[in-house]
Amino acid sequence: MGMEILKGSAEFLMGISQHSQLLQWLGENENNIGVAFTGRSNVGKSSLINSLFGKSTARISKTPGRTREVNIFQFFLSNDGKKDTSLPPLYLFDLPGYGHAEISKEMSHNWDLLMKTFFDNITKQVKIINIQDARHPDQSADKQFFDFLKRYRLETTLVFNKMDKIKTQKDKAALKKIKPQLFANYKNVKYIHFVSAESKEGIKELHDSILGGLLTAANIHSTSDLS
Ligand code: GDP
Repeated sequence: MGMEILKGSAEFLMGISQHSQLLQWLGENENNIGVAFTGRSNVGKSSLINSLFGKSTARISKTPGRTREVNIFQFFLSNDGKKDTSLPPLYLFDLPGYGHAEISKEMSHNWDLLMKTFFDNITKQVKIINIQDARHPDQSADKQFFDFLKRYRLETTLVFNKMDKIKTQKDKAALKKIKPQLFANYKNVKYIHFVSAESKEGIKELHDSILGGLLTAANIHSTSDLS
């Protein structure tokens, strides 16, 4: 069984909409280890978080008002089915979505400030997950996000969600074929996964990859079987 993300263990700590408050939290929780989820609105970020961390983890992030906040959760791993308490705290950051069709200047300015504060103040111990819609890869909003992200040199995993919507082998192959181009364009991207939060295709592999990143960050050289 080995180590796993302990399903249902993610506890909502707070939702932050003010960059000054975010700066304070990150200052008080220096060198935090975790994983941050980013993506265009509606790509299935909440659904994916729920498939990885347990059913209703991201429900809170969907409540009106919270969608524009950095939502912070703490979670645990399990070791052979038992809650692991040997690791430092692990954090899940559900970052506000981007690419809204209609958004005021003020809101978009606040998003910029929040993101800059977040990425300026986290370390390599936070793994970045960028979720895209498998049917619409590399949209202009995604390109802009990667353009912003590249200065930080943080290890990023690109996840194409909604694979269940891609029906033909031909379309699947076409999507997988753009992988080398994406790796070439986005130097931060170290892994690319193809998943479906709906059918659960690819979720196990994504889980194991996130777990590996967390354990490396926590400097745990686990001998347990991660597969
Ligand atoms: P968020 O705004 O990025 O948090 O997206 P949600 O998780 O709320 O998902 C947006 C919509 O896409 C919802 O109607 C979900 O049911 C749907 N959805 C999410 N993931 C998948 C998936 O893998 N396949 C399909 N077919 N629909 C999905």
